[in-house]
Formats: sequence, structure tokens, C-alpha cells
Amino acid sequence: MSPLGSTSTRTPPEGAGAVRAGAAGAWAEAGSRWGTAGQGNGPGQGSPGKLFPVGSVGVYVHVPFCERVCPYCDFAVVAARPLAPALEERYVDALLCELAARRGVFAGRALASVYLGGGTPALLQPASVARLLDAIRAAFPAGARAPEVTLEANPSTLESARLPAFRAAGVNRLSLGVQSFDDGVLKRLGRAHRAEAGRAALRAARAAGFANLSIDLLFAAPGQSLAALERDLDEAIAFAPEHVSTYALTLEPGTPFARAAARGRLALPDDDAVAAMLERVRGRLEAAGLLLYELSNFARPGFEAVHNARYWERRPVLGLGASAWSTDPRAPEAPFGVRRENARATAAYLAAVEAGASPEVSAEVLAPRVAQGEAAFLALRTRRGLVASAFAREFGAAPRALWSEAIDELREAGLLRESAAGDLALTPRGRLFADTVAERFVAV
Ligand code: SF4
Repeated sequence: MSPLGSTSTRTPPEGAGAVRAGAAGAWAEAGSRWGTAGQGNGPGQGSPGKLFPVGSVGVYVHVPFCERVCPYCDFAVVAARPLAPALEERYVDALLCELAARRGVFAGRALASVYLGGGTPALLQPASVARLLDAIRAAFPAGARAPEVTLEANPSTLESARLPAFRAAGVNRLSLGVQSFDDGVLKRLGRAHRAEAGRAALRAARAAGFANLSIDLLFAAPGQSLAALERDLDEAIAFAPEHVSTYALTLEPGTPFARAAARGRLALPDDDAVAAMLERVRGRLEAAGLLLYELSNFARPGFEAVHNARYWERRPVLGLGASAWSTDPRAPEAPFGVRRENARATAAYLAAVEAGASPEVSAEVLAPRVAQGEAAFLALRTRRGLVASAFAREFGAAPRALWSEAIDELREAGLLRESAAGDLALTPRGRLFADTVAERFVAV
């Protein structure tokens, strides 16, 4: 059993006429064909037809460019400093082409959220972000609530200067990759920015009118002490953000950090220290009014992330860009939806779209057993936990009927608690070992 490391969830115009003509072709035809299928019958989902209520859609846009690639990162990113205007235009054109091809599958769904992630989407010029957001808003009807539109940004002079223009383009939530307010920690993490840039970016975000501000904090960094983490928490809390995402550093295979650790050249806090840090993070943030509502995420009431909740609630998401994942709405032939994955490499993504082909590299019709396992472990990530009656409504059996032995063992180990109604939730100790708990619910 290993303690929980990263609990990251990352895993995200002028209309179709603005898309390069050569990229429209056969794929766009396929897109319109898909648009006639793929309508849902699951909870909160459905088709524009008579049988089912119309649901909503969230759109994730992956922007793979970063100033430099951090040595612990395993996201699909490429170093681009500066981001060449021609490459930016090419990539945005491809995103718009993909949107035009895929939007039919989600037709009629109200736009609930847009998440521009990466990578560093704030390296895009505000005009490019406006072009993307205009196209996405034009593709889907507006819902009763204005969509949450999140942009990830890193602290840099360039990005901070663009914040008012991003705001004007329709971004209403900013997620700032501050990570730490300690120059030593930032340097050891290989980050491009320093603490003062983080503070300046937070001030710039407020000055630009962002009233929904999320701070990313990373902990269990090389050489980081509990006292250093306390100072980071002090500063983060002093800025009074609406939302904080916290991640313990994990060693992802193939990264420079993983190689350095294998050679014994990376001094990371041990498991007990990481567990103590996790508890301290929760205690300090909750005392400041930022409530843990998911394993990695804290928010003031009313500021829980709308887009991320779509993943935990297994709602349809249209993912655009290199390495993006989509979950199509449920359909009679796919009662739990279809999950699609795009080419991971930026070059492969661009080549496919510009050739008029789909950038998709895999599509999985979700089997009932897979959907049940995901429903369980995703719900367990949340404060609410797994509600037995809702699970039984969807799958025709209560969690205990499927995982009786696992539930008993996890309860005995002090990782899970079960109510009289059969609802399940992680204990504080279970949160430290959430990956271990998840394994017991996932189909093999
Ligand atoms: S800034 Fe974020 S996405 Fe970019 S390389 Fe660093 S960790 Fe990865």
C-alpha cells in the first residue's frame, strides 16, 4: 500500500468557415454522421429528441505549449518560448476544425463549462482565446447559468499582462500554477517562475477583475519541510483565493525526476512526512474556509469547480486538442457512453487534423463493469462519497451487492466507512490511500 501521491484530475470564432479548407473533408462528414447518434439516456443526460431530457456539455481544450518543460511533468507538452505565431495559428485552426467535426455528437446540449488547460494556455494570445471561446459558444446553446470558463496560467510577466484581455474574451475563472511561494522549492522543481512572480500574478488577476481565482499548490517537493509548506499555506490563504488545488509531487515514469530518484539523486519527503503534509494542508485550508470537496480540491462554498465535477460525475465532455479525452453522451448502443482519446503528440495531432482525418487514437464503449468501477471510485474522491441509492438506480444493484468483500476489508483497514443505508465514503486514513481503495473497485 502506498500513500496517495498526486491526486490530479488532469488528466482538457469566426465559426467553421475560419477553419483551413483542407482540414474539413471526410472527417467533417464523419462528424456530422456522429452527430445523429450518441444521444443519452443516463442521469442528467439525454438527446434533443422526445425520449430524453436535453443535457449539458463541458468542453476541455488542451494547449500543449509551455515556456519550458518541468522535470516532473508527464503531461503532453512541448517547450515553446516564445510560441511562434504561425504555430499558434495552426494549432488554433486545428482545434476549431476538431470542434466543427465533433460538435454534432453533443448537439443541443447546453454549454456548462469550458476549461482551457495544458500546457500553458495563457501563452496563447488573447485574440486566439477569444476565437476559441466564440466558436465554442456558437456551437452549443446557452444554459440557464453562464458557463464557467477556466483558463490555466503560470506566473509570468507576459501572461499577467494579458489577464485583462483574457477576462474581456470571456474567461471568468483563473487557475494559477503558483505551486509554491518559496524560491528554493520552485528552483528545485525546475519551475520557470519565482515566488515574486506568483505574488504579482495573483495581484494582477484580482486587478483584472477575476472574482473566481484558483491557486495550484504542489507539496512533497524535493527538500521541502513541513515548515516550508506552512509558509506556502500562509501566503496562499492571505491572498483569499476562492479555490485551491493541492498536489503531492509524484514520480511519473520517464520523467527526469523519476530517473534522478532511481539514481538516488532526489531527496523527497518520506511517506510519513507526505501523510503529515496532506493532513496539514487540509487542516489549514479548511480552517480558512476552503472546504475539501474532492481529494485534491478545496473551495469556498459555491466556488467548487463546475468543469472538474463533470469528470467525477461522469458527464459528457468534449475534449479538443492533442492528448485530450472525450466522453460522448450515452446512447442505446453505448448505455454508459464512449470514451475517446486523441493523439498525444502535438505533431501527430496536427498532421491528422490537417489531413482531414480524426486525431482520435482510441475509442472505448464503456462496459457496465467498467462504468460501475469508475462510478464508485470517482464518487469516493468527493466529500459526498458514493450514494448507494443513486448507484443502485443507475446499475440495478447496490455497491455492497458488487463489492461486499472489498468493502468489509477496507472498513476493517480503517479506509472506508459505510452508513446504515450503504453509502460509502473515505475515512481520513482512506484519503491517504485513495489509490489503494480505488483498485478494489476497478474491474480488471
Ligand atoms: S508548466 Fe505545468 S504543464 Fe507545463 S511543463 Fe510545467 S508542470 Fe507541465
